[in-house]
Amino acid sequence: MVYLKCSKVVSKVSDIIDGEAGLMTRMRFYGHIMMCSNCRRYLAQFRLVRDYAGKVTQNNLPDDFDRVMNFVLEEVGKEDD
Ligand SMILES: [Zn+2]
Repeated sequence: MVYLKCSKVVSKVSDIIDGEAGLMTRMRFYGHIMMCSNCRRYLAQFRLVRDYAGKVTQNNLPDDFDRVMNFVLEEVGKEDD
């Protein structure tokens, strides 16, 4: 099994949450999530935001949302050659 890179995982999160990703994508996605605490946190944050979408304003995002997002984006940037 070829595991996805963090950058791929991040790009697939919305498909996964929306149920639009195929079985193989989901398996690879969760395979990576199980092994990668950074992407686990990203997924958790993304779900939180989705759950609250429409109910809250940007000011009500989780306290560490920006920190997590910045971290993930930095990691993604590093992997994008
Ligand atoms: Zn990852």
